[in-house]
Amino acid sequence: MIQSYKQYPQLLEKYDTIIIGSGMGGLATGAILAKEGQKVLILERHYTAGGFTHVFKRKGFEWDVGIHYIGEVQRENSVMKKLFDYVTDGKLQWADIGDVYDRIIIGDQHYDFVKGVKNFKKQLISYFPEEEKAIEQYINLVFLAMKTSRNYYISKALPPFLDRLFGRFMKAPFYKFSDKTTYEVLSSLTKNETLIKVLTGQYGDYGLPPKQSSFYMHASVARHYFDGGSFPVGGSSQIAKTVDAVIAAAGGTILINADVEEVLIENNKAKGVKMKDGKTLYANHIISNAGIMTTYHQLLPKNIVEKHHLKEQLKQVKRSVAHACLYIGLESSPEELQLPKTNYWIYPKDGDHDTCVERYLNDLNEEFPVVYISFPSAKDPDWSNRYPGKSTIDIITLIPYETFEKWSETPWKKRGDDYELIKENIAQRLLKELYKQVPQVEGKVSCYELSTPLTTQHFVNYKKGEIYGLDHSPSRFRQSFLKPRTPIQNFYLTGQDIVTAGVGGALFSGVLTSMAITGKNVLKKLM
Ligand SMILES: Cc1cc2nc3c(=O)[nH]c(=O)nc-3n(C[C@H](O)[C@H](O)[C@H](O)COP(=O)(O)OP(=O)(O)OC[C@H]3O[C@@H](n4cnc5c(N)ncnc54)[C@H](O)[C@@H]3O)c2cc1C
Repeated sequence: MIQSYKQYPQLLEKYDTIIIGSGMGGLATGAILAKEGQKVLILERHYTAGGFTHVFKRKGFEWDVGIHYIGEVQRENSVMKKLFDYVTDGKLQWADIGDVYDRIIIGDQHYDFVKGVKNFKKQLISYFPEEEKAIEQYINLVFLAMKTSRNYYISKALPPFLDRLFGRFMKAPFYKFSDKTTYEVLSSLTKNETLIKVLTGQYGDYGLPPKQSSFYMHASVARHYFDGGSFPVGGSSQIAKTVDAVIAAAGGTILINADVEEVLIENNKAKGVKMKDGKTLYANHIISNAGIMTTYHQLLPKNIVEKHHLKEQLKQVKRSVAHACLYIGLESSPEELQLPKTNYWIYPKDGDHDTCVERYLNDLNEEFPVVYISFPSAKDPDWSNRYPGKSTIDIITLIPYETFEKWSETPWKKRGDDYELIKENIAQRLLKELYKQVPQVEGKVSCYELSTPLTTQHFVNYKKGEIYGLDHSPSRFRQSFLKPRTPIQNFYLTGQDIVTAGVGGALFSGVLTSMAITGKNVLKKLM
């Protein structure tokens, strides 16, 4: 059972591995190592486990924070499904969100992304019949890019001498795709800007518009959802709950309210961690799932950071975008309100995605460059057992951290009237978008609460409220330090930063970090 650090649980004198952070990457690494016989201790600073997969409850409702849909778990033989089954002992169940997983809305037009790659293609061709060849070429390129990524990722887990021998050859085919921006690739296939805008209509899933994002990242998300989307039955909290049982069965523990202050390092070897209350905990391996920026800026001793020039490494990468999310509660069931399971991506009519983002960043009163509406309670078949006669809706948009920076030192929920005023203004703008798309809910909203980048900072410890860790630009994928091993002995990284954003990326980071630690081909075993 997940326990609180504040209640002085019985701990071992020394663990095989301590993991800082209980995000998907930390949980997956913990479960895989537990299955290798290790005693694992996961330390989570928040009052609930799961990182972005956590849920929060207020006013009789429950909201999921960082899961709206997961791809590839529909196919029994997919790596993703097998991995989830492995780390949860098959206890995590999935509910299909239906034939149309994403609806891209541009002005008055909408374009549906339909489950199954053949259906996806047919549907896209029905919207753009003159672009059949470009659409076919596009889908082929998505699959090709994905094929090259397997060796790229495996090379990250290789011991350094093998990486020096083979790494270059394993990565080269991948760079052909990752070095190009999404727009470079798509504009070489078609001159139809509307088609490009539609095909890149999921860019919010990784936060960077097409002229800035790596084509690999685009391909990874597009491929991930070609077979449709699914939602965890019972909500996102089921992830931490089911993984916890696997870790506990091997004698390990997940602790919440467990804020790590520093990694203890002696003679360049990680030995343990010092907690915020001064207590020390020891293990043979220490892994950070707290994100590379937080890890290097906050958790490692200054002399170690300087010795290995770690801040120089961080200059090669950028933090991802920040967001605002409006969490809405309604006093009727999803069926009564006829809420869809499909996610809505709403874009301005004029301008490509990059132009819309730029326009908005120059003047935040301009149209939101993207508004994403998700209906989690409609997706979860168990929702009405837990919350009969209620529904939830989440609406997300991008918002720069700087908008709220001046309140960063104020306490949560007590940031003052000016802060609340900005929030209310954004909330009203987002509600307006909702009523336009789903008019039947107007007048039915019983409560709402807007999160800001400071909320992300407060609860998940991303300093500038970044939601996806690092930006997914072409140069990010060239950074060889984004891997499990660090220059410090027995100290490793896991989570979205060493693979990509997304629950699937973070889950896979667990495989890579476990491989690097145990030297075993964990992937082969679980396949
Ligand atoms: C709004 C939003 C919507 C999303 N929607 C989807 C989606 O629909 N599908 C999808 O696949 N992905 C989605 N994602 C992305 C996905 O949730 C993340 O990429 C993924 O969960 C990140 O996992 P991680 O392992 O990197 O850890 P994180 O989730 O980033 O967790 C890191 C953990 O480390 C903890 N920590 C930090 N510092 C310390 C410390 N000093 N001591 C102890 N603990 C510490 C934090 O509290 C946190 O719990 C979404 C993300 C967001 C924000």
